[in-house]
Amino acid sequence: MLRSTQLLRPLVQKSLVKQSEKKLFSTCLTRFQQQVPKPTVPKPSFWRRAGKFAWRSTWISALLASSYIAYSIYEESNPSKQQPQTPTFANGQPKKTIVILGSGWGAVSLLKNLDTTEYNVVVISPRNYFLFTPLLPSAPTGTVDSKSIIEPIRSIARRCKGEVLYYEAEATKVDSVKKTVTVKGQDIAKNDVVQDLHYDYLVCAVGAQPNTFGTPGVYEHASFLKEISDSQEIRHKVLNSIEKASALPKNDPERARLLSFVVVGGGPTGVEFAGELQDFVDQDLVKWYPEISKEIKVSLVEALPNILNMFNKKLIKYTEDVFSEENISLKLQTMVKKVDDKKITASIKNSDGTTSIEEIPYGVLVWATGNGGREITKNIAGQLEGQTFANRGLIIDDYLKAVGSDSIFAVGDCVLSRKFAPTAQAAYQHGIYLSKLFKNLAKIDSHKYKLEQTPEASEKAKILSKIDKISNFEPFQFVYLGSLAYIGSERAIADLSWGNWSKLSLGGSLTFLFWKSAYVGMCLSFRNRCLVVLDWVKVSIFGRDSSKE
Ligand code: FAD
Ligand code: NAD
Repeated sequence: MLRSTQLLRPLVQKSLVKQSEKKLFSTCLTRFQQQVPKPTVPKPSFWRRAGKFAWRSTWISALLASSYIAYSIYEESNPSKQQPQTPTFANGQPKKTIVILGSGWGAVSLLKNLDTTEYNVVVISPRNYFLFTPLLPSAPTGTVDSKSIIEPIRSIARRCKGEVLYYEAEATKVDSVKKTVTVKGQDIAKNDVVQDLHYDYLVCAVGAQPNTFGTPGVYEHASFLKEISDSQEIRHKVLNSIEKASALPKNDPERARLLSFVVVGGGPTGVEFAGELQDFVDQDLVKWYPEISKEIKVSLVEALPNILNMFNKKLIKYTEDVFSEENISLKLQTMVKKVDDKKITASIKNSDGTTSIEEIPYGVLVWATGNGGREITKNIAGQLEGQTFANRGLIIDDYLKAVGSDSIFAVGDCVLSRKFAPTAQAAYQHGIYLSKLFKNLAKIDSHKYKLEQTPEASEKAKILSKIDKISNFEPFQFVYLGSLAYIGSERAIADLSWGNWSKLSLGGSLTFLFWKSAYVGMCLSFRNRCLVVLDWVKVSIFGRDSSKE
């Protein structure tokens, strides 16, 4: 009714000629409209409003998420133009050269945070990619694809503001007096090419190599879990052993040996890999090798009374319980003394204090007993006063400078420190700190150059006070954020820490979800993040691939 009177109003008003008639009509109509009761529109129910809100929020979030994804992909795959390397700055000031040895956590963190227009930066590494090590234990079983956890160093370097040179080579020697580093690469015909490169600052970020503690036979017969090639080797050995064992009759001791998978070292690497391997058996091999999978035995051998010594005691107990549920055989207080091609010999500390010797046959042996220093680290340490290499790393001061040198810095696993464990977390923080330190050093250099060019005494004094201020740089402080580890059967443990005042120890399936989201968040690039998530989705739908390749 109300609506029809509103529609009528302009039509009737047009047909009326006199102004007084128009006015009278309008007044009457308004009065009439006021008297007609307005229809009451019923208020939508709470659930209807909630549904509407949820629907709107969903599509707004989907829109924002897809814009973010599109932007990230675009930004990552379309790097902007880089400032080329030059011997001097525009004002004539000579530009210093930073040579970074390595393409791991420490080196890449430095590269990502450094203003590469302030220096000529050169990266030397025999590995032309960054490896996201926290997910490496998932690679041999195919939970994630090897390609999903690596990022080419070229793309990392290309995204820097200033040009970064990369040489696929290994640093073999450093001359700390002449400030040169000798690098060995290969030409296209695979002949060695050796050259000396000059540096003003050298950053040693070469990490560590697997430590065997001189145990005989390890290099010849065991596999390590440090690089992508190790992961491929382990995968090949596992599937090879299973195929060979399946051709042998039941009760053949050779079949039992081939199906014995032994991991030595109960640190996080060994624990995570043992968990992943047992998952592979329980979730996938059981379907494709129903008989043989029952005979596969995963063992974890540890010299100390506990595994995972850096974790909270509750979490150690929890992991041991989960391992026993999963049928992973835990051999504690068992120190491997010798490795042969088919068995390991270990010395066991018994509960009565005596020791006995046990031989453990194996089909696949994975050695994860921690870190040892690299040759190049030893070479650097050997030239510097105050260094005692002792098969580990470089001693550094509070500013990450190698003791005994004024131009060599060290980050990550090649550092010998009691303040932090050799982790990606520490290496990453080192890289960030060093980028800030280099920023300050660049400022100091620029002021020093101005000082040389300025004849006026008053101006010189001003510059000197500026230099003084900048030189007071904060020392490096490691912030421990916690440790995470996957322990198998979709469970993880987490020791989290916020400063000195709050600590939290968690374990279970929810922690596994947290572990997943934390590691996806930590992946270096958006591409890696997407690939890892897609791998997980793929495995949850189709299972892990069991082909040998
Ligand atoms: P790396 O990352 O090892 O990098 C060293 C680089 O130096 C490599 O690119 C190498 O090719 C290069 N290099 C070697 N020799 C030379 C040479 N002579 N000249 C030039 N370059 C050279 N830490 C965590 O915090 N959380 C985790 O979950 C975690 N999981 C891990 C899982 C596994 C399986 C492993 C093995 C380690 C894990 N870590 C973890 C430890 C972490 O990976 C290391 O602490 C970290 O990689 C150290 O970084 P880095 O830069 O010192 O060395
Ligand atoms: P590790 O040093 O942490 O543990 C090695 C273990 O091997 C020790 O428990 C040691 O007692 C044992 N061992 C040594 N020799 C042995 C022998 N002959 N027989 C039996 N056991 C022996 O080594 P890792 O697990 O390779 O870790 C190296 C570093 O990387 C550590 O600092 C670790 O914190 C870090 N990391 C962290 C994570 C994580 O946070 N999730 C994962 C992997 C590695």
